[in-house]
Amino acid sequence: MKTKLLYLEDTYCFAVHAHCVDSGVDERGPYLILDETLFYPQGGGQPADSGVISISGVELPVQFAGFVEGAVRHYVEAVPSGLAAGTPAELHVDEASRLHHARLHTAGHLIAGALEGLMPSWKAVKGHHFTDSAYVEFEGTLPEEARASALASLEEALAKAVAAALSVDSRLIDAEELAQLGIALPPHLPEGKPLRVVTIEGYPPVPCGGTHIANTQALSGLTVSKLKAKRGCIRVSYAAP
Ligand SMILES: [Zn+2]
Repeated sequence: MKTKLLYLEDTYCFAVHAHCVDSGVDERGPYLILDETLFYPQGGGQPADSGVISISGVELPVQFAGFVEGAVRHYVEAVPSGLAAGTPAELHVDEASRLHHARLHTAGHLIAGALEGLMPSWKAVKGHHFTDSAYVEFEGTLPEEARASALASLEEALAKAVAAALSVDSRLIDAEELAQLGIALPPHLPEGKPLRVVTIEGYPPVPCGGTHIANTQALSGLTVSKLKAKRGCIRVSYAAP
């Protein structure tokens, strides 16, 4: 059974009605599966959404959401006893943390796009869009003496992108079109997730299943805290508003 991933369609939808289709217990604990969900399951360098599922008269805080075999498992303290498939549920994701995760993720793509433009030999290979520890990693080299100017150029490019209020669009795509566009899929893609590309206006499209803000204007206050180069790998640490 598969879960319809509503967060792919609208970052700014925070509440929805759905139905329970299954429940169970795995090594992480008890979980609920719904026919559709707003909860982003942790993966792709982005943390899970938090929030609450109201079902059978109880409010269950969602402790974690994970993607397993095409379904999102919403981990809760306990599944209500006698819960039947088809039981209606109300889903609420925490708006503040959803939007912060979206800003962090979009900022990561913006940093990747900006630096790949500034440093044509660099290639963004990893993103980690977690609060307090966000970074993007590149394959490439950067001599010590070029570090300060690279950082200054990046900060300038980011400030320009924020001031220009660039639109951020995402759309579902199939593997064939992706190949036609010459876009390589990242490794370790979870099986069964729809393919999607995210495009920041003026930057090349990138495959991404995360949540994104609609406009770079929301990234006012984005700061690059560190640029570290070691053995062919450059890590750019940042903080998003
Ligand atoms: Zn992404």
